[in-house]
Amino acid sequence: MNFNDLNIIPPVLKALQEQGYTQPSPIQEQSIPILLRGKDLLGCAQTGTGKTAAFAIPILQHLHLGKQNSKGPRKIKSLIVTPTRELAIQIAQSFDCYGKYTDIKNTVIFGGVKQGAQVQILRKGVDVLIATPGRLLDLMNQGIISLKDIQYFVLDEADRMLDMGFIHDIRKVLAKLPSKRQSLFFSATMAPTIIELSRKILGNPEKVMIKPEQTTAEKVEQSVFYVNKPEKTKLLVHLLKTDPVDSVLIFSRTKHGADRIVRLLGRSGIQADAIHGNKSQGARQRALKNFKSGRSGILVATDIAARGIDIEELSLVVNYDLPNLPETYVHRIGRTGRANASGMALSFCSEEERAYLKDIQKLIHQNIPVVSDHPFMSASEKNVSMVVSTSPKKKHKRSKSQTVKVADNANCTSIPKPEKKFSRKPYQRK
Ligand code: AMP
Repeated sequence: MNFNDLNIIPPVLKALQEQGYTQPSPIQEQSIPILLRGKDLLGCAQTGTGKTAAFAIPILQHLHLGKQNSKGPRKIKSLIVTPTRELAIQIAQSFDCYGKYTDIKNTVIFGGVKQGAQVQILRKGVDVLIATPGRLLDLMNQGIISLKDIQYFVLDEADRMLDMGFIHDIRKVLAKLPSKRQSLFFSATMAPTIIELSRKILGNPEKVMIKPEQTTAEKVEQSVFYVNKPEKTKLLVHLLKTDPVDSVLIFSRTKHGADRIVRLLGRSGIQADAIHGNKSQGARQRALKNFKSGRSGILVATDIAARGIDIEELSLVVNYDLPNLPETYVHRIGRTGRANASGMALSFCSEEERAYLKDIQKLIHQNIPVVSDHPFMSASEKNVSMVVSTSPKKKHKRSKSQTVKVADNANCTSIPKPEKKFSRKPYQRK
């Protein structure tokens, strides 16, 4: 199948061709016909699957076709609510890009910056508004934004939205939406709370499920390093110096921690940038731009700040801290191994984080291979070595005669497995 088979209007097709898109991704192939028919959609898909185009293309098409009969100033007819500024900006860029040959105008609003410039654009009139929940409500309360003309509503990354505590804001937005509308609801996971929220938003939706959360873990080559907390930076420096890679995204649990990692790397002569909520919008955009353009190779991020980062050629993800939510681990490592590329993810696990590791392994149905011969192995670990089974799903390309040294893992069995050595080139792309 290609885009020509999806009944997409010529101005949008032309923009897609310019982007070099030849074939629709699975979520696009399945969702675009449903949305062009005007149905509500419940989409289970992650960032990286092409879901932005899956909803942007039909919305642009409906608006473009509807425009021919409408007169007067532009009113907001489509609202996309997404959890982070970065994601909002990327969605707006996608609308710009796919709508280049239509007369559909969009704008993006988010907090953390003064509202003046955003309000000016809104007053001139737009067709599509992409917003984070806080600033949206703020401008609604000031009477600057009205949702009464909304025909298409998208709630993006609903699971993140709930994780980030936006549920009350979402409810307030929902209360102001016209009941006659087309609604789209996307989430990477479908926990009961998410399904409950989707019921409040959607009529009788069609469902599209793309890549359940767990499958990311199958694409990405993962390793875990047992290391005492104070030794983590030394291990990081050691790894980065032994085998430099083009682009590394390092996850820190806290903003303060992210700054500290950047500082400590700097002391070892390794330049890195941090991106998190305490940084100004300008500094975040700069760091992201430098990283995307390849000018800087190491970005240290918190989960929230990294949420919307869309980088196609990310060589490596490092979990400097393990996340307490196992789903977050899957989101993180999904930053590498996008599309069909294989990626690499290394996790540092201190004594205190063992329980998190256990939860992660349970969620992904894999025991993550342990690197057992690095110089900063925690003392308790040196004494423990068991033979353990790694995932039945993941195929490793090593010899069967070797065994992997793994400590204290759940579901230990004595199936012979290859030894996971910290080789000279542990995380280079193949
Ligand atoms: P998303 O999941 O919307 O964040 O998209 C992930 C990446 O895939 C973005 O960089 C898009 O530009 C790209 N993309 C989306 N659809 C296609 C397609 N049909 N062909 C090639 N690239 C695409």
